[in-house]
Amino acid sequence: MQQPSICVYCGARPGNDPAYMDIATRFGAALAAQDWRLVYGAGDVGLMGAVARAAQDAGGDTFGVIPTHLMQLEVGKRDLTRFVVTENMHERKKVMFMNSDAIVVLPGGAGSLDEFFEVLTWAQLGLHAKPILLLNANGYWDPLIGLIDHVIDQGFADASLRALISVVPSPEAAIATLRDALS
Ligand code: AMP
Repeated sequence: MQQPSICVYCGARPGNDPAYMDIATRFGAALAAQDWRLVYGAGDVGLMGAVARAAQDAGGDTFGVIPTHLMQLEVGKRDLTRFVVTENMHERKKVMFMNSDAIVVLPGGAGSLDEFFEVLTWAQLGLHAKPILLLNANGYWDPLIGLIDHVIDQGFADASLRALISVVPSPEAAIATLRDALS
């Protein structure tokens, strides 16, 4: 495979605990250290900005995709290796997904959840087999994992849904899991 591209979904805000920005910074640097390309939403705010700056600072390849209407709100980061402006959110998600080999979800809000559930449901339907990781920093995603288990317990999804998600506790564990999955 050529240089793997890792799509990162994460918060446009920093969150209340500095640990979240720290995780994002460590993960951006770790991607660059592997010489893997970061694909993300091209914002310079919150965890998004932290991942991208860290990857850039470590000499990594960065590919950002942002819809035109978010250029101001999310501070479009024009100095990425590649910077693409789309017409709308749907195009943004499509370009990010099509240019990625795996997806990693860091702590984030409704936008990150939307992106996570979209790739998860596509995997459930067999539309792709790209690895999907939840970077569970500080147990942030525990309630989400509990919800997915509940959905399965109550008979609204097959148990195989859970197996589509790799839950990892740290950037280092994410890199190790990706390395196995992509080899
Ligand atoms: P958040 O996790 O809410 O901080 O959002 C993280 C990123 O997801 C931001 O770049 C948002 O613009 C983006 N986002 C928010 N809502 C959506 C959506 N419906 N589809 C795609 N991306 C979204």
